[in-house]
Amino acid sequence: MIIMFEELEDIRQRCLKCEKCSLCKTRTNIVFSDGIPNNKLVLVGEAPGYWEDQKGKPFVGKAGQLLDKIFACVGLSREKDVYICNTIKCRPPENRNPLPEEKEACREYLDAQLEILKPKIILICGSVALNSLLPNESGITRVRGKWFEGKNGAKMMPIFHPSYLLRNDSREKGSPKWLMWQDIKEVKRVYDELK
Ligand code: SF4
Repeated sequence: MIIMFEELEDIRQRCLKCEKCSLCKTRTNIVFSDGIPNNKLVLVGEAPGYWEDQKGKPFVGKAGQLLDKIFACVGLSREKDVYICNTIKCRPPENRNPLPEEKEACREYLDAQLEILKPKIILICGSVALNSLLPNESGITRVRGKWFEGKNGAKMMPIFHPSYLLRNDSREKGSPKWLMWQDIKEVKRVYDELK
């Protein structure tokens, strides 16, 4: 565990100094990770937004609070059970989607995080993360809730981004929130089977 922490810290230190793409010029903070390093459950999000950039933490603000509530519904918490990181470590201006060259430049850091942790479950949160981790798949609505095989035997599931759920208030059967509930229950089922 100590080695895992040290290796992740090495990558974080490299990100702090990184100037591989132009996002280094506009960032306030790099947004490296939150939660607990572990080899069971990792969530990969998209790119930092305004508050993430200000605080240096992924999934803060309303979307982060909703994500925490979703995990809490199945007895999981980011403090004890989940490691959270992003596809891109610096905020794209005006919250635009990251450019292909920015994703390409930053990819080595995400790959390094996943290689160190070797998580058994990876949640791919939102369409930007989907495009990075499963480039042959498209349409988060089409693929959410399905399991895909990842590196090191990881089981990967795309899920809706909480900011999308915030824009869709219905909880009726078939709504995005209802679908998310089905997905997180399935994630917990597989999580509980892990040794
Ligand atoms: S987004 Fe990634 S590659 Fe670009 S400057 Fe930030 S850490 Fe470096």
